[in-house]
Parts: sequence; C-alpha cells; structure tokens
Amino acid sequence: MDEPGGYGGGFGLDDFASDSDLADVPDDHWLIEGLEASGLHSVALTWVDVAGHTRVKTVPLARLQEAAEHGVGMSPVFDVYLVDDSVTTSRHIGGPDGDLRLRPDLDRLTALAGQPGWAWAPVDRFHQDGRPYEACQRRFARSMVRRAAEQGLELRMGFETEWVVRRGDEPACTGPAYGMARVVELSAYLGELLTALRDQGLEVLQLHPEYSPGQFELSFAPTDPVGAADQAVLVRETIRALSLAHGLTPSFGPAVAPGAVGNGRHLHLSLWSGGRNLCADGEGPFGMTDVCEPFLSGILRELPALLALGAPSPASYLRLTPSRWAGAFQCWGLENREAALRFIAGQGANAEIKCFDPAANPYLVVGAVIAAGLAGLESRLALPVPVAGDPVRQSERRLPRSLTEAVEHFAASRVLGEALGEALTEAVIAVRTAEVELFAGATPQELAEATRDRY
Ligand code: GLU
Ligand code: MG
Repeated sequence: MDEPGGYGGGFGLDDFASDSDLADVPDDHWLIEGLEASGLHSVALTWVDVAGHTRVKTVPLARLQEAAEHGVGMSPVFDVYLVDDSVTTSRHIGGPDGDLRLRPDLDRLTALAGQPGWAWAPVDRFHQDGRPYEACQRRFARSMVRRAAEQGLELRMGFETEWVVRRGDEPACTGPAYGMARVVELSAYLGELLTALRDQGLEVLQLHPEYSPGQFELSFAPTDPVGAADQAVLVRETIRALSLAHGLTPSFGPAVAPGAVGNGRHLHLSLWSGGRNLCADGEGPFGMTDVCEPFLSGILRELPALLALGAPSPASYLRLTPSRWAGAFQCWGLENREAALRFIAGQGANAEIKCFDPAANPYLVVGAVIAAGLAGLESRLALPVPVAGDPVRQSERRLPRSLTEAVEHFAASRVLGEALGEALTEAVIAVRTAEVELFAGATPQELAEATRDRY
C-alpha cells in the first residue's frame, strides 16, 4: 500500500479536524471516495485506556464521515479495566451507565501497511451532547501542549519502542545482544517492518537488536507531543501485525522474564521557542538555557509520582532495577544510561526519560511530563549536580521499587493532580491499586507471564 498516512503527506487535509476539540468536521465525501478507490474498506478508531491497552471500535469506510461528525459510541467503563480485563471502579468512572462518542482525528488517518484494506485513526472522546470528555487522555495531552504554548514553548518528543519477539516459547532469534546475526536471522521480518513504517509516513531513525534475547528497539524522529503518542500506538500495532504475519509473538510488557532486562519505552524531549532549541547554546549545565534547566528539574522532582503513569504495572517494577539501563535512580547525568534522566548535549540536544515503559498510556505520559516541566519552570528550580558513573555506587536515591510506592507519590502530587483533574486522577489510583491487589500473591515469574503479552 503506497498511500502515505497522516504522518507522511497525509491526505491533504491541512485544517481538517485539527487541534481544537474537533468541533467542525467539513463534509469531505471526496476523501472517502479516494480512500475506497485505493482499496481501503475499514477504519480502526483507537484510544488508550488508563491501564495502557489500546481499545478500538472499527467502522466501514462508508461510515467514517458520520463517525467524524457525530462519533461512535463506547462506554466510559474501559478506563477502569485492568490488565486481565477484570473491572474495578472509581468515584467518577465505573459501572454500566453512560456512553461516550469517539471521534476520529482525520488528520492522523493512516492506511495500515501491515493490514491491507484497513486504515487507522486515533480518537478524542466526547460526551453525547458534544462536550469534550474530561477524562479523555488525548485531550489531556493536547491541553498540556496548549499550556506550554501559552508560555511560548513548544515541545518535540519521540518515544523509543522496545519489544521482544518469540517463535512459540523461544526467542525468535539466537544471535547476541546488539548483534548483526539477529538482523540476518530476521531479515525478512525486520525489512518488511521498516517498509511498512515508511509507507505509513513514519520517520524511523534506527532499528537495532537490544540486550534481551529476541529484543529489538525502534526510534523515531521527534514530533509534537500528541503526534508522538499517536505514533507510539501506531508503531506498536504495526509491529504486532508484521510479527503475526511472520508467525511470531511480540511482547510489549515491561518484564518478559523476571531477572532479565525488560522493555522500556523511553521518552526523548526537547524544548523549543521561535525555532530555537532551548536545550542547547545556553549558560546552564552542558549548554542548557535558563528555561531548559528548570523544566528538566521539574520533571526530575516529579519522577516518583510520574512513575504511576509511566511505569504503571506491578510488572514495571520487575524491570525498573539497577544495572539494566532502565533508569532506576532519581538523578540525571550527561549520557548516563543508568540515570532516569539522561541529557544528550550538542547538536540535537535533548533529554531522555528512561524509567518509563510500554505499559504506559503515552498520552498520559506526554501530558504529565509537560505539566511537571512547567511546574519546575514556575518554581525556577535548579538541577542538582549531575551524576557521572554508576549511581548504584553513589548512594543516589532509588525511584519507587513498587507500584504501591509510586501511587503514594502520585496521590500526593499536587502538580499532577491539578493537571489531570479529578476523574483521571482517581481512575489512575483505582486501576493501579486494583492491579496491585490482583497480583498480590503472584511470583515474579507469574507476574511477568500474566502481563507480557497483554499490551
Ligand atoms: N531495555 C532497557 C530498559 O528496560 C533499555 C536499554 C536501552 O538503554 O536502550 O529500559
Ligand atoms: Mg533500548
């Protein structure tokens, strides 16, 4: 399929259902006809719930215009679903009542190269009367982007995606970590994956074999925060489709096997104003400007609470341990892969948050990171001394060692509570607490096995 998707040239709908709350949807029957002519028949409309699952309603292509104007119904209850599809409840969300309207953002409409005939678009969620839904995660992310814009700041972000691929119960390749042998073993699979991503308009920076058996990583060019979150969803489903087509099982859980290096989903970010990268050419540490330093300090300060969003599964804490480059310490350093916050200086300067993993809802992550950064800017925080070398030897502070601990920080965080609002905050606490209870008696092996293939 060579139609580029929403990230490449898109379908030429520059102002279509753009950044506002999707109030006006022009009548574009020509668009649908063009898509039909190119062999598409159906569109997957996705959003990501609090537990980190991508939920979907699909519509025949002929219904897309209607869906964009009036939305497609879906219960709000999915925001209190747990990783095993059991259901908890929270003060604002839960129970059988109510319905929401899912409205696709057609700017992102992408023909799925790994699923011929299918297209995909992320949705925003609305009440039936057309009001934006206060617990819509994508809307939350967009509102934090606006908050930054009000201060003249633009963020560029990109998620790294790590996954483990198996054939049956065995890793799908046997070559060594970072070894060319793995690329040779899985040449057809990886080649088709890269081609599919390109055909969908995604700009891959790198693909490489990672440390754990059968593990790979993909990274992408930075883009706007909501776009980076949309992209994270699209990338995962593309990997899934291509893996299944090759008879392989992809695992996106944070821990595939206890005691082994897990899957991270690190977030890269840089701050911009008037076309200038504020992470470089300043007077602060390693060239940071006086906007970048307090912004990153705010993120660093909030990391224990941010983990309830970025490392949201009990299994996340099997991964988040020292000496695995997962960023288990609340410190920062220049190119330090054991620090939760790694700064990359020079041309293309940016910061990488390493402690987040692929169980996270990427929209919650990007929005909450912006909120934490802006709070740091407001309090004019300075960064502590950077850490060089292994933080384990320098009595640096460990990040929470369990989801329970992270949730305590989250519940106490005024910065995140104010940004997310009550409905989302309480749903996050309810889902996390219920997942802790769900796995209370589980061994690490049982926890890893129960979660690794659920995302
Ligand atoms: N797999 C590691 C993690 O759990 C990250 C390795 C890397 O630095 O890319 O985050
Ligand atoms: Mg990696």
